[in-house]
Amino acid sequence: MRCPACGDRDTRVIDSRDLDDSATIRRRRECGACATRFTTYERIEAARLVVVKRDGTRQEWDRDKLANGLRKALTRRPVPDGAAEQAADEIEATLRSEGMTEVPSQRIGQLAMGKLRALDHIGYIRFASVYQSFEDLEALKREVDNLYEQKGPKSPRG
Ligand SMILES: [Zn+2]
Repeated sequence: MRCPACGDRDTRVIDSRDLDDSATIRRRRECGACATRFTTYERIEAARLVVVKRDGTRQEWDRDKLANGLRKALTRRPVPDGAAEQAADEIEATLRSEGMTEVPSQRIGQLAMGKLRALDHIGYIRFASVYQSFEDLEALKREVDNLYEQKGPKSPRG
């Protein structure tokens, strides 16, 4: 670390403390050449996560954008408060645990649909109809039929 006053490299740390968030360390340093004191901050850099869209374009991962999409799908559905936020956090945790820095948007869509499927079938269909853009009513109907079949003997068709 160069001294900001004289440019000398002979500086030493004279004090070091965690700030409130504990993710930042503040260090006081002193230049050995001119005795100027200055402060540096050291922060944890969250690993970058980049989403690769179907058309190949890349976007910084945006947890809030996913949470918004999930919240929209769950509008006026009987799910606990914060369900969309929790699902978005869990999806982010899953992506980070996989250790990849680039994630295909399809992977995120699959994870999101998995969460919605477990939370609320109407929310799931809403999200899937936007995300998968069902080609026609037949495709949508097949998906709904799949959900009914998984519900077991109480299915109106069984
Ligand atoms: Zn100096």
